[in-house]
Amino acid sequence: MMIVMQANATQAQISAVVALVESLGMQAHLSSGKDITLIAVVSNTAAIDPDQFLLMPGVDRTFPITRPYKLASREFHPENTSISVKGLNVGSEEIAIIGGPCSVEGREQLMETADAVVEAGGHALRGGAFKPRTSPYSFQGMGEEGLQLLAEARQRTGMPVWTEVMAPEQVPLVGKYADVFQIGTRNMQNYDLLRAVGESQKPVMLKRGMSATIEEFLMSAEYILSCGNRRVMLCERGIRTFENSTRNTTDINAVPVLKSLTHLPVIVDPSHSTGHWEYVEAIARASIAAGADGLIIEVHPRPNEAVSDGAQSLKPERFAGLVKQVGAIAEAMGRTLAEQPKIVA
Ligand code: PEP
Ligand code: MN
Repeated sequence: MMIVMQANATQAQISAVVALVESLGMQAHLSSGKDITLIAVVSNTAAIDPDQFLLMPGVDRTFPITRPYKLASREFHPENTSISVKGLNVGSEEIAIIGGPCSVEGREQLMETADAVVEAGGHALRGGAFKPRTSPYSFQGMGEEGLQLLAEARQRTGMPVWTEVMAPEQVPLVGKYADVFQIGTRNMQNYDLLRAVGESQKPVMLKRGMSATIEEFLMSAEYILSCGNRRVMLCERGIRTFENSTRNTTDINAVPVLKSLTHLPVIVDPSHSTGHWEYVEAIARASIAAGADGLIIEVHPRPNEAVSDGAQSLKPERFAGLVKQVGAIAEAMGRTLAEQPKIVA
């Protein structure tokens, strides 16, 4: 249930409503808009009596939240959520472009790629130090050494760092280095991991499970939100379909659907959604035209030498071209590219 406070409700009146909700054994989550405060009452028992709240001073009205995901819904938070990652506002009018290798492979590869991403106009650096590989015999990532290299690349370029965390027990270690926790497609329904990042207070980019419906995707986001972490961004990275000419199928529909159902920022990953570098630019353009708030793109200086996902990685020159094209599409959509990071070393 949602409780809508009156525009002039006082802090004391809001606190009294929250106290009553909590005394009934339910959770109260506040959404403070420009004029009014909404209080979502979340409970695993359906029985909430609106009447006992309607009579309280400062309460305007109540209504049921129709979606199973409450805190992720636009009903709870009608305005877009913008998440600040070291000054990069993901989910604002500005488009964010995150570029970098699939895997951190070594110092030279990462620094060369980071320099190229920032030079090309990118805003943030991606790179996996813990890799969820389909085969146990494939490269599994550099681990903490890879995280240290990402931190060095951030220092060098000023770009915030996106990197994957695969297990709840890795959250403290990865959190020491990452600016954004990436939850991979294979872990979208790893509920212990969702809770662990939900308790961390660091921004999270949740990737859609390759076979997950949009509702399941939003229910996973709800796990993180319900643990108190409001800084969740969603990433459409392609789903499994019968089509096999590409690695996955970009669910471009998901972009406007998500934008209508949720207030959370939406990022598209055309590298994984296509699996082929030659399709990445087209899908990047389409994603921004469809209303996405950002892109995450795999970039490698020598894709043929990449230890993972070389076939879908762009060379730096291509990535620079993509940034320009996306800038033009952003402008057509009444948006702009985000400002580039300033080095504060
Ligand atoms: C990645 O970003 O390199 C990755 C493994 O992505 P996904 O979880 O979408 O497959
Ligand atoms: Mn990859």
